[in-house]
Amino acid sequence: MEKLLYEKKNVWDCIESEEEKEVFETARRYKNFMDRAKIERSGVKEIIRLAREHGFKELDQTEELKPGAKVYCLNHNKNILLAVIGTDTLESGVNVIGSHLDSPRLDVKQNPLYESDGISLLKTHYYGLLKKYQWVAMPLALYGVIVTASGEKIEVSIGDKEDEPVFYISDILPHLGKEQNKKILEEAVTGEDMNLIVGSIPSKVKDMRFKRKVLEILNEKYGIIEEDFLSAELEAVPAGKARDVGFDKSMVAAYGQDDKVCAFTSLEAILNTQDNKKTAIAFFVDKEEIGNVGASGMKSRFFENVLSELILKEKGEYQDIVLGRLLANSNVLSADVAAAIDPTYPEIVERRNAAELGKGISIVKYTGENGKEGANDADAEYIGYVRKIFKENGIVWQTAELGKCDSGGGGTIAYVMAGHNMNVIDVGVPVLSMHAPYELASKADIYMAVKAYKSFYKY
Ligand code: MN
Ligand code: MN
Repeated sequence: MEKLLYEKKNVWDCIESEEEKEVFETARRYKNFMDRAKIERSGVKEIIRLAREHGFKELDQTEELKPGAKVYCLNHNKNILLAVIGTDTLESGVNVIGSHLDSPRLDVKQNPLYESDGISLLKTHYYGLLKKYQWVAMPLALYGVIVTASGEKIEVSIGDKEDEPVFYISDILPHLGKEQNKKILEEAVTGEDMNLIVGSIPSKVKDMRFKRKVLEILNEKYGIIEEDFLSAELEAVPAGKARDVGFDKSMVAAYGQDDKVCAFTSLEAILNTQDNKKTAIAFFVDKEEIGNVGASGMKSRFFENVLSELILKEKGEYQDIVLGRLLANSNVLSADVAAAIDPTYPEIVERRNAAELGKGISIVKYTGENGKEGANDADAEYIGYVRKIFKENGIVWQTAELGKCDSGGGGTIAYVMAGHNMNVIDVGVPVLSMHAPYELASKADIYMAVKAYKSFYKY
């Protein structure tokens, strides 16, 4: 008889020394990815670079789709779909793993530059749910694009190379912080306090000297004028690389592990997928952190459009009903991070149903808040299906939910995917300090995610 009582396993107890080497090797590749993929635009670029290395070709440039064909399709430079065509027809369903490339950060406003008290600053507007007080008094890098009125696109990436400057948001010194200390945490640092310091040398020209000096430098470096900020998309993110954590180097601290840890692990899985029966799809979306909106977000028509293109290329013709059947027969892992039990703040979770670091990939049946509102709430049949796959492939996994019943909540792309009538469940890596400038994950769980996603594509 199988073991009567349910007991979680620790991944480290389940692996031999050879496999342990692979855990650390996977983490090394992961840190590399994280250093190159700080924002969704750079994430997409890195995905394309690695996909091309593994033989993927642009879907537009592929006439006919045969089993084994590897294609990718890019959307608005922030959202991308990778597919490995299987031997079964598309109509019989596809296996999808969806993750998101956007993470909480500070976006530069459209008319951002001003000077005050001998300092030049950029106004920012925070993106996603974040604790503002965590983002001050630390080095920040700037990534994104500036599009000029003539249509030229200038790429900006500054603050992560050794010789590059960083940017900085000031905070009140503790000596004079009596009033600030009395405020509730949420109001101690406000959105309009998140002003990025970008310079302090005055221009030789006498009007608006500090602001002007910054513009002189930007004009020399990028050829832009102040008005060009109006059509820019610049994102301030923590500067610095992903790092090993602990005497045993068992964990990784990095910016944006929600959700690039699942983007990376599902990417590794699809890059190594071949001889698959069902077509394997890895979908990397944008705008999850602000509600799956926008043309590059999960609610966009793009996902269906690409599936329609695939059907057209497979069959030589397209019918709506085929897409409908494809969706109804498809299985999805919404690959997103779960909240792990924090030993310092265990009270926010209900232990029996919370993920623990190092105990494998988490399956989250439902997210949502106020009684599962907004949750996907996967059905038992589908959880059973995923369990079976994980069991057959030696995947160490655990069940999780997003906090205690009344603690709050959140959502993922799962409910949007499920709205297409596909089987969907959240399966991802547990993290500590989610949405903080540096989040923490276990290398064992990261490795287990790669293994789990690979096994999912085999069925
Ligand atoms: Mn997420
Ligand atoms: Mn998030």
